Amino acid sequence: MSQYSVGKDVLSYCGKCKLTLSHTIETMKTATLPGRVQCNTCKASHSFKSAPTAKKRTVAAKRRKSSTIPVPELWKQEMAKSKGESSPYTTKGSFKEGDVIDHKKFGPGIVQAIVDNDKIEVLFNSEIKTLVHNK
Ligand SMILES: [Zn+2]
Repeated sequence: MSQYSVGKDVLSYCGKCKLTLSHTIETMKTATLPGRVQCNTCKASHSFKSAPTAKKRTVAAKRRKSSTIPVPELWKQEMAKSKGESSPYTTKGSFKEGDVIDHKKFGPGIVQAIVDNDKIEVLFNSEIKTLVHNK
């Protein structure tokens, strides 16, 4: 049984309101899919656009996404976001996400993640490196 029918309310994306809002179904496209809908807020009628499903954004998903950006580009973005205060990197140091570190060999880098408590993943100009800390 379809949950949609003419005259019923459905959540649709409204291009005018730029929001997912309650719409009244004017026509059905198929037995299960609304055709035209009218926005209950601005009264505009348009074709049904299903509400975008809220995707759970896990850290892993975010990282997968950011990995599509070339590392040097990502590095530039992250460096621009950072406050520019860097601390010299030593294995004895204790760093947290977002810290800018100065590495003797690799130069400035931004701590991206803490791994296993004693390792940090650092984004450098040319590559992402895993370094130890808290030693
Ligand atoms: Zn609207």
